[in-house]
Amino acid sequence: MKTSIEQRLRDLQHFGEEGGVVPVIDVAATSTFLNPEDMARTFQGELPGCYLYSRHSNPTVKAFSAKIAALEGTEAALGVSSGMAAITASLLQLLRQGDHLISSRVVYGGTYALFENLLPRFGIEVSFVDLDDEAALAAAVRPGRTKVLYAETMSNPMLTISDLPRLARFKEKHGLKLVIDNTFAPLMVSPARFGADVVVHSATKFLSGAADMIAGAVAGPRAFVDSLVDVNHGAVMLTGPVMDPRTAHELYLRLDHLPLRVRAHSAAALDFASFAEKLGVPTIYPGLASHPHHARLREIANPGFGFGGMVTIDCGDPKRALALAKQLQDARFGLYAVSLGFSRTLMSCPAVSTSSEIPEDKRRAMKLHEGLLRLSIGFTGHAEEMHERFAKAWKAL
Ligand SMILES: *Cc1c(COP(=O)(O)O)cnc(C)c1O
Repeated sequence: MKTSIEQRLRDLQHFGEEGGVVPVIDVAATSTFLNPEDMARTFQGELPGCYLYSRHSNPTVKAFSAKIAALEGTEAALGVSSGMAAITASLLQLLRQGDHLISSRVVYGGTYALFENLLPRFGIEVSFVDLDDEAALAAAVRPGRTKVLYAETMSNPMLTISDLPRLARFKEKHGLKLVIDNTFAPLMVSPARFGADVVVHSATKFLSGAADMIAGAVAGPRAFVDSLVDVNHGAVMLTGPVMDPRTAHELYLRLDHLPLRVRAHSAAALDFASFAEKLGVPTIYPGLASHPHHARLREIANPGFGFGGMVTIDCGDPKRALALAKQLQDARFGLYAVSLGFSRTLMSCPAVSTSSEIPEDKRRAMKLHEGLLRLSIGFTGHAEEMHERFAKAWKAL
């Protein structure tokens, strides 16, 4: 029988000193070489696995990283300081001046700004493409120069699903690396299964679950992950966005609850989305048959984790969206705050927050208008009481 992700995660064991059931937090910034000759050899890369200096490698970060590799089904992974660090370091490692990157046009606002404003300053060109438009995608390839195809498994805030099998075939055909941001769909979808070369995460979101830290991770082949901390050429080693061992330890422990939390988010979100749709609220949720990518998600999803914790509703215009958010916040339905994957419901208007970096005309083209309210549905509280509070606020609009 094939080992499931959950079992892979569970089977990893790191003992603490004296046999503790959890690993210790190893905070040492630097490590002693009992044989001084080994230090030089470590710098030469001859002793992989030797701890040297905590920007290069750390035992606690390594334990967390092993769990991320198990989660994503990749050979290796590396915890870093944020989701943006995971994206930036991965792309700096894969691209150089003169290279070209094709990105989905629906990406997280910070990612969009990185691609639109920062990477071009270093001679890396980016084309934003509707990846479902096969002709546009094919036309975007610049032979010899296009090196990376970038997308999110589930995009913000329209919750569109990337056609991973097709993107993988495309990248094979053109010799590209496929980099997938799986922040919205941990456990639910395993992009590496379909051929993604690198999977990045903002661990700030579902992986953390408590909205109390900023963290990220990169998962991929061993050689790629090792290259990130190469002392001469590694994008993480040389730009420095490392994960603190204390953060790594917290996240290591929380990953044991991730399957429970993802299932709880998915169940609560499906319940809420079904209720809202019945109430007559225009509701975008990939778990609903009305979502254009419902069947696509069913095809690529790992069984048992549902359709995710994110729901977007259309309030018609920005005034109504903000008024509803205020009502819902006053009724203790949720908190008006960016981010996602928290145990409580978080709400924000993407056009004026997490997607505000995307210019208006481009937002229009992807139907990302100002009246949308995005909800990261928490799993706390009582479903029927939440329904009542929501219905009351919606009807009062
Ligand atoms: C939040 C987020 C990021 C950025 O992560 P940080 O941890 O805030 O740096 C990247 N991608 C997606 C999809 C996100 O939601």
